[in-house]
Amino acid sequence: MSKHDAGHKARKRFGQNFLQDESIIRRIIRAINPKPEQHMVEIGPGLGALTEEILDLTGALDAIELDRDLVPILRTKFFNYGDQFTVHEADAMRFDFQQLIQDDRPLRIIGNLPYNISTQLIFHLLSHSHIIEDMHFMLQKEVVLRLAAGPGENNYGRLGIMAQYYCKVENLFLVPPGAFHPAPKVDSAIVRLVPYKTLPYPAKDHKLFQQVVRTAFGQRRKTLRNNLKELIDSDALERIGIDPNLRPERLSLADFVKISDYLADLKG
Ligand code: SAM
Repeated sequence: MSKHDAGHKARKRFGQNFLQDESIIRRIIRAINPKPEQHMVEIGPGLGALTEEILDLTGALDAIELDRDLVPILRTKFFNYGDQFTVHEADAMRFDFQQLIQDDRPLRIIGNLPYNISTQLIFHLLSHSHIIEDMHFMLQKEVVLRLAAGPGENNYGRLGIMAQYYCKVENLFLVPPGAFHPAPKVDSAIVRLVPYKTLPYPAKDHKLFQQVVRTAFGQRRKTLRNNLKELIDSDALERIGIDPNLRPERLSLADFVKISDYLADLKG
């Protein structure tokens, strides 16, 4: 039984793989670098392997945990931290992060996320990016590669474009399966997402931009001409300097914004 075990049996349906490697835990905390004046939010604290280290360094920590059996374990374990620590028994996918804001202090979000919900959760958080200072996540390695990929790379697609529209994305380091109990079947990695205060490529209509990206990647193997035919014809694509015979993974973020802005102007 490890220091973080507390007799709790890991539940597969909640994606529970608890961190147990102390040197990896320290490395993650160094990367996050919590400060006393900051407001941290941890998604899926589990048995508190990261929580404990962060509480020692920061002023306020809100934790969001779905597994109701873990909530009392966390409350007991961190009772001594008083008001500094609050655990919310909630589903992070439906959680309103705005309610945590006090004194206009932006949130620093961290989480060793359950891998089955990680991409949906990141999309949910991107919609709150104006109240977030930064996010550090442990994810399946492939998801980190998708978040950080640029045009022409294998993993480049909707997730990376949407993340890079709102945030600077950094792939920090790999974490092997042996760092967890039970060990997952896949490699993991830590990613840092820092929302831009001013977007480098702001679209005139954010919703339309999202729709263009989603539609363009409807079928990866097809060209823009095919995927986008309901939204924009190939002559118009050519007029704005985009080759309709390209596949969507060749286009940069700025190209997608260009298509979206053209459509926004048409709508008036
Ligand atoms: N942070 C801990 C660690 O590093 O050892 C636990 C990580 S474990 C991979 C994922 C945690 O997220 C579990 O505690 C699980 O119960 C919790 N969880 C799963 N789905 C969740 C959701 N939708 N909202 C909040 N927490 C969730």
